[in-house]
Amino acid sequence: MDENSIFNDQNLNNLEFLFNYAETFQFGQVHIDIEKNTRAIIIIAIHNTKLGPALGGCRFIEYTSRGAAIIDALRLARGMSYKAAIAGLPLGGGKAVIIKPPGSIDREAIFSRFGQLINNLNGQYITAKDSGSEMSDMDVIARHTPYVTTTTSTSESIGDPSYFTARGVLRSIEASVSHRLNKSSLADIHVAIQGAGAVAKFLAKELVARGARISVCDVDSTRASEFSKQFNATVVDPSAIYDVDCDVFSPCALGATINHATIPRIKAKIIAGCANNQLERRECGIELHRREIIYAPDYLANSGGLIFAASEYFKNNQNTVIAKVDEIHDTLLQIYQRSAEQNEASNVITGKLVEEMIY
Ligand code: NAD
Repeated sequence: MDENSIFNDQNLNNLEFLFNYAETFQFGQVHIDIEKNTRAIIIIAIHNTKLGPALGGCRFIEYTSRGAAIIDALRLARGMSYKAAIAGLPLGGGKAVIIKPPGSIDREAIFSRFGQLINNLNGQYITAKDSGSEMSDMDVIARHTPYVTTTTSTSESIGDPSYFTARGVLRSIEASVSHRLNKSSLADIHVAIQGAGAVAKFLAKELVARGARISVCDVDSTRASEFSKQFNATVVDPSAIYDVDCDVFSPCALGATINHATIPRIKAKIIAGCANNQLERRECGIELHRREIIYAPDYLANSGGLIFAASEYFKNNQNTVIAKVDEIHDTLLQIYQRSAEQNEASNVITGKLVEEMIY
């Protein structure tokens, strides 16, 4: 490549965009490692370390572009700062993205390299399993650095992360039902769950044990019908889940399902689930508030997974993890109270609370 040819306005503007993004959201650091032998590009984004070292998982997936991978790392790192702060953990926010190279790969070499890079950061960033990475990859990293969690030994000693995520969602539903419906029990509460995956299964088990009724949908019809048999749930078509006449809508599949097209269809008075980035835009939370639908901010409701991930680092046992996850209940009640007093949406209140803590 002719070096002079890269100095054109479009390339420089693209770079400017990245810096503007990082500046607007008050980053932090971004480390990029390009390794010839493994062909992997490793990006480590550290958003904020005011409350403690930045803990955030490592995505190992293919990306359509390197720019998209960097933006993903930045966006997710910032989300981790918010999640750790609202969960009351002494942790900051960071995230790593390893762009999965096409073709056959040397997985061990890639994660060894990643482990060495993390170690060079001297504890500012702690990694964990995320989409595409495995607990066995975390074991490889652990040979090079102590700044890694969710290794096979964490799950052996503490349990399944999805259980802790589900427990946090359950506590969120309980807090929401007591605040919005003035009920201290989930008996006969109707919950519509979007997605019959790992977290939803743990959640459904607890809901059924408390006398709640469940409707469920999944794009995988086999999963939906197995779930239905296990929890006596009514199966609905994925496109019809928003129309279910229920008390609680629980998004447990994918992001951006609360948007301007779906909000007018939602009959539930409560939204509480585990999916990340449930609101398509911040304004959707304001619209829910206007319609008197209370919304448990996703990064609080699903913070049980992060609390689990932090447990190895803090050498916590299962009881300590459970106690910390259960605190989600009272944190959410405080948010709802502030939301009612100040007549402001719960997502806006939560954002302000976190920003007071981390900036
Ligand atoms: P999972 O992959 O086990 O389950 C997701 C389910 O949703 C799958 O059965 C899938 O078929 C279904 N699905 C996908 N698109 C759908 C659609 N449009 N309509 C209905 N169903 C659809 O995942 P999981 O571990 O249960 O996590 C669920 C969500 O929660 C994900 O967004 C995840 O990022 C988030 N989350 C999970 C954890 C955790 O501990 N597992 C922690 C925090 C956040």
